Amino acid sequence: MGLFTKDIKSMEDLYLHVLQDIYYAEKQILKALPEMIEKATNRELTAAFKSHLAETEKQVSRLEQAFTLINEEPKGTSCPAIDGIIDEANELAGEIEDKAVLDAALLAAAQAVEHYEITRYGTLIAWSAELNRDAVSRLLNTTLNEEKAADKKLSAIGEKKVNLKATG
Ligand code: ZN
Ligand code: FE
Ligand code: FE
Ligand code: FE
Repeated sequence: MGLFTKDIKSMEDLYLHVLQDIYYAEKQILKALPEMIEKATNRELTAAFKSHLAETEKQVSRLEQAFTLINEEPKGTSCPAIDGIIDEANELAGEIEDKAVLDAALLAAAQAVEHYEITRYGTLIAWSAELNRDAVSRLLNTTLNEEKAADKKLSAIGEKKVNLKATG
């Protein structure tokens, strides 16, 4: 679906578009996380990234099940928002020398990713209710809870350690 063609005609089309958007986003996150794991120094932060990488793999397969439930082939559509968040994180990381400050930057970038995902899943769950797609809603709700938990865990790591260390 292009930006300049009006090929989204119904709520079902819009729903499919957003499902494709988050599918693309999750796959970009899968590609970005290993690099974040490599760059991070704080052990808890590294562990949080690793466990979220494993969760993200499951989230991708849940989305594939969601496509199947609505009789569509799993397919992504480009998401400039997630690309922007990831590009910005990489650019910023490239400018940071201190390891503790880098951890704080990586943590903040990861939370920006989680918040983007939370908005997308929240929207899809609301639309699932309107379109009577209960099975999809349940799948996406499992993922939404993981995203919220990941975000909370990152906040806790930041408050407890990473931000304190970075401010010295
Ligand atoms: Zn589009
Ligand atoms: Fe995710
Ligand atoms: Fe998007
Ligand atoms: Fe996530």
